[in-house]
Amino acid sequence: MKEVKNPRRPMIYYYLIILAIILVFNMIGMPALQKQAIKDVDYSTFMKATENKQIDKVEVQSNKIVYTLKEDETVYETGLMNDPGLTDRLYKSGATFTTDIEKGRNGYVLASILGWVLPIIFFLWFGNYLSRKMMDRAGGGGGSMMFGAGKSNAKLYVQSTEGIHFDDVAGEDEAKENLMEIVEYLHNPDKYTSVGASMPKGVLLVGPPGTGKTMLAKAVAGEANVPFFSISGSEFVEMFVGMGASKVRNLFDQAKEKAPCIVFIDEIDAIGKKRDNQLSTNDEREQTLNQLLTEMDGFESNSGVMILAATNRPESLDPALLRPGRFDRRVPVELPDLQGREAILKVHARKVKLADDVDFHTVARMASGASGAELANIVNEAALRAVRGGRQTVTESDLEESIEVVIAGYQKKNAILSDEEKRTVAYHEIGHALVAALQSNSAPVQKITIIPRTSGALGYTLQVDEGDKYLLSKEEIENKIATFTAGRAAEEVKFGRITTGASNDIEQATRLARAMITRYGMSDDFDMVALETVNNQYLGGDTSLACSAATQDLIDQKVVDLVREQHQKARALLEANRDKLDELSQFLYEKETITGEEFMEILNRDSAVSEQ
Ligand code: ADP
Ligand code: ZN
Repeated sequence: MKEVKNPRRPMIYYYLIILAIILVFNMIGMPALQKQAIKDVDYSTFMKATENKQIDKVEVQSNKIVYTLKEDETVYETGLMNDPGLTDRLYKSGATFTTDIEKGRNGYVLASILGWVLPIIFFLWFGNYLSRKMMDRAGGGGGSMMFGAGKSNAKLYVQSTEGIHFDDVAGEDEAKENLMEIVEYLHNPDKYTSVGASMPKGVLLVGPPGTGKTMLAKAVAGEANVPFFSISGSEFVEMFVGMGASKVRNLFDQAKEKAPCIVFIDEIDAIGKKRDNQLSTNDEREQTLNQLLTEMDGFESNSGVMILAATNRPESLDPALLRPGRFDRRVPVELPDLQGREAILKVHARKVKLADDVDFHTVARMASGASGAELANIVNEAALRAVRGGRQTVTESDLEESIEVVIAGYQKKNAILSDEEKRTVAYHEIGHALVAALQSNSAPVQKITIIPRTSGALGYTLQVDEGDKYLLSKEEIENKIATFTAGRAAEEVKFGRITTGASNDIEQATRLARAMITRYGMSDDFDMVALETVNNQYLGGDTSLACSAATQDLIDQKVVDLVREQHQKARALLEANRDKLDELSQFLYEKETITGEEFMEILNRDSAVSEQ
């Protein structure tokens, strides 16, 4: 689908055409018609006509006399005079007395209709016709044609799919497979209808931000080669009550005209939130949602209009939206796994010139947890970095550095750490890495740096998973907690004092410990009882407690115990490996960066010594 721009003629152009039409009507049409119209004459003319016996029909009204002559069709009109012998004279002249002469007036009425009313009707029709025509041309962005009684908000929702196909969406194989069926259906609906199968009207794409939901929807339209209508949920909810509902109506009117087509509603949760248990109701949103439900019920499931919607908070959607006949199919679009990340990097790397040393597998491993959008950003950052460095191609180190940029922000070149701070940060970071490496189950580090970042981190440890993990054992989680506490533990071991540098570690350690107890059933006291529910699994994952106050106290106590135990374990590990801690920290302090290989090399070299 190519995007075609509106031919933007100035509005005045159309108005001038219409004005010209009205003038032509009035100059040529009116006089012709007015022959039939009423002609005013004076009373003496009327008297003369009576005397000459020219009068054909006459009608004496309460305030005027209307008459016609024998030789022509014209209706004449004259004022009423005090003329007592009039009726007598008229009778003698052979005139016929009637009461339907006024129908001659119709000529006049007709003339007015043709002269003014018709042009106005034409004007309105023409306005409508024009805006419809614009729609047919599928111009992007929307030419707002405000023709009086035409569509009040003739925004066009058709968008270009930018030639996106399934090939351009890397990974997400399950989602693609699911959506392939819809493409197939749009291509060949008979195949489905002949068996009696009907396609779902709506498909809900569910997943975290930046995982390619919009892209997938566009790819479906691109593959099926049908128009793509798109609107974001937040666009519906506007300042003026009622606008949202009318937009929904408008959108579906346009879509039905263009079927088969794809209608994509991004952020559907903005309008589709549950309607109940809200203290402050939002009329606008409810009206919009109701309109959406009405529209979805209003067309047949095989009409060729396919609605795709995206959300990252499926749990907040109104159940009415999800029931069969509406969004009855749900396609999860998850964060990419290692393979997916590699594929996405490769797709985006098509656009940049690469050096020979680039190994996407390593980059993908380092970018664990990144979404498709972040990976696209990483490739772009790397290209920018290559340009900045005056290079023609993007190298592996560009990509690695840009992962850090995207995850942790730019290097803060001029933020100078004091010597003591720098040493503390070095020990802190080595503490994390060393404990991680010493606990066999924890992932080895890829790189540690203590160059301050714009995000505020003074340094960080980039851990690398060997592939993706879907299940974590209790021991693995405990080890993770120990690793989080190890930064602080290293400060204690070395300096005997503590700093604020561990605040993020504390948060993460606490979250893990709490989840172990309240959600994973990993404590002896509560067995497999859920004490907490996750509200929002794709956005940060807020939780709410579901237990009594007494239990809460107990949970808090257990969390503290758990973290303390792991903290002590980390400390013990560091104390037992004090020489390695010092040596590694010294290396990092001097070089500011240590790679995983350097780290392991020092670690193994030392362990040989300490075994003696
Ligand atoms: P969402 O709608 O899920 O928030 P988008 O579809 O808008 O995400 O994705 C944003 C950008 O991220 C896309 O334009 C694309 O560049 C990139 N992207 C995301 N997922 C993928 C993927 N699976 N393959 C290729 N690019 C992707
Ligand atoms: Zn830390």
